[in-house]
Amino acid sequence: MSVPKQRRTKSSKKKRASHFALKGANMTKCSRCDKPVLPHRACSACGYYRGRQVLAVEAKELKRMEKEKAKREKDAKKEEKKDEKAKKVQV
Ligand SMILES: [Zn+2]
Repeated sequence: MSVPKQRRTKSSKKKRASHFALKGANMTKCSRCDKPVLPHRACSACGYYRGRQVLAVEAKELKRMEKEKAKREKDAKKEEKKDEKAKKVQV
């Protein structure tokens, strides 16, 4: 491997690095709900692509809500157990 002959100055290093920043994704608008979507992808908000439903967004949403509810109940049970332990320690 070749070795650099001279060190790069701060300014030349920074000049080169000025082009390293990432550019934002090129978003288009959903034809149905006008939300920003990536081109050639189904809309994550309404599940439509090229004028027809391709994703069951409502089913996904329901599943997600059920998952959250289950997690909340689990956390509540944990809290109860903690409280019981604390009470036992006090007595
Ligand atoms: Zn949409």
